[in-house]
Amino acid sequence: MKVVNIVEKAVLDSLDEVMAHKPQICKCDKCLADIVAYALNKLQPRYVVSEKGSTIAKAAYLEKNIQVALLVAVAEAIEQVNANPRHDKE
Ligand SMILES: [Zn+2]
Repeated sequence: MKVVNIVEKAVLDSLDEVMAHKPQICKCDKCLADIVAYALNKLQPRYVVSEKGSTIAKAAYLEKNIQVALLVAVAEAIEQVNANPRHDKE
């Protein structure tokens, strides 16, 4: 049994989808991690208990308003990170 933040899962899922339509955006590990972190900081976490073998995605659909907020946060995160990428500053 473990506790999972379904918002985090949803962000990761939607990021894949959104990034597929944005070939101009850098997809290195650092930028992707920054995008996820930025988006998650904008969103309220939603924790659910995941029982062994059960699929969380089906059990806990995010409400519509959360899905919208999530897509807004992801879009904003992509813009922020793209405008100020950290991958070349090491
Ligand atoms: Zn990058």
